Amino acid sequence: MKQLSRAIEEFLNRLPSEFDELVNCHDVRARQVEHHILASCHCTMKGSLPITQIHDVTAVLEDRVKEAFPQIYRVTIHPEPFEEKQ
Ligand SMILES: [Zn+2]
Repeated sequence: MKQLSRAIEEFLNRLPSEFDELVNCHDVRARQVEHHILASCHCTMKGSLPITQIHDVTAVLEDRVKEAFPQIYRVTIHPEPFEEKQ
């Protein structure tokens, strides 16, 4: 599961070149619940985006992860605003 988490994180962190809204991804977790693999992660998005756009990008990213890792049953992305001070 650790290796899978790392692979998902690497995959998502290649996507900012395609998705202008995305800053980075971190805290990727993959876990097995009974016979399903569930994944979750945080994705930092540019702070000025409207919530509907963040919603759309999050949904597309979740689909992309599921496409790239068909063994994953469900992926949940938690969007976070990007704060310059951090
Ligand atoms: Zn976070």
